[in-house]
Amino acid sequence: MKQRVFSGARPTGRQHIGNYLGAIQNYVALQEEHDCIYCIVDIHALTTLESTDRLQHDIHEMMLDWLAAGLDPEKSILFVQSHVSEVMELHTLLSMVTPLGWLLRVPTFKEKARMQPHNVNYGLVGYPVLMTADIVLYKAELVPVGEDQLPHLELAREIARRFNSLFGFTFPEPQAKLTCFPLVLGLNGAQKMGKSYNNYIELAATPEETLKLVMTAVTDPARKYRSDPGHPEICNVFRLHHFFNPARVDEIAAECRSAGIGCVDCKKLLAEGINSTLASFRERRASFAAKPRYVTEVLADGAHKATTIAKKTLAEVKEKMGLLPPVSCRIQP
Ligand code: SF4
Repeated sequence: MKQRVFSGARPTGRQHIGNYLGAIQNYVALQEEHDCIYCIVDIHALTTLESTDRLQHDIHEMMLDWLAAGLDPEKSILFVQSHVSEVMELHTLLSMVTPLGWLLRVPTFKEKARMQPHNVNYGLVGYPVLMTADIVLYKAELVPVGEDQLPHLELAREIARRFNSLFGFTFPEPQAKLTCFPLVLGLNGAQKMGKSYNNYIELAATPEETLKLVMTAVTDPARKYRSDPGHPEICNVFRLHHFFNPARVDEIAAECRSAGIGCVDCKKLLAEGINSTLASFRERRASFAAKPRYVTEVLADGAHKATTIAKKTLAEVKEKMGLLPPVSCRIQP
């Protein structure tokens, strides 16, 4: 029997090449040998969003990118977190077995509280409990994570363990499916590629937009003139060549060091590599986008499949916690 994998991602709209290399590619590979459940975690997003005006649009755009990248609704369950309301019930029930001290110690809670002092909402504190509910509701055994996310998963494991010790074995303790996520720096070469730093290239950008963006990328700062030899090992454009022109990295490094190639030509090569790597992705995306109901249907089907699993788990949890089973209520004449 295949092991079940769960992963959730916040709805950040159109995905960029950092998302693709860091997570989506891995999601696609995992679905070949595992029973995968991938969820857009819109409730989690509510803990930090200033405005929800773009939430629905961002979910749609993100799902288009997932589908175009190769996530297959025939192989994986793809759905939106809030479409399976059982997760909110399980979150409440798990909150009863989670000591507050565990949550207040979580570094990301402290960081978020510092970043949005005007909005330190309960959802921020309860975030790891909801995350645990996301995973254990589907009895997932594996969660793809990078090393930096291990502490979050450890907390989910502790909550599952505590529930199991109080009420009997119910949840498998989710294990980390450690993945070597490459760190993809943004065009400024300073931070991780991300929307908040405005240093990204969208997967769905046109070839012209891609070229324009690549041309803004920061390179080796010591290379002021075309005749200066460069240092590819400190250049982010060169790092990106590893992903998009892997067969040419040695040649590019040598040409850079001998000043045989200038940064403008080197960036043009990178843009070509990105555009040819993403050409089929962009075609697929356009064809999905031309079918306005397709994403809705995929999400409805995913929610149906996820709900079927979720209802079963939730009924088991309620019974183990000693809650009274629902009774049908009839008004007597
Ligand atoms: Fe970077 Fe390429 Fe310029 Fe060398 S030639 S510094 S690798 S952009």
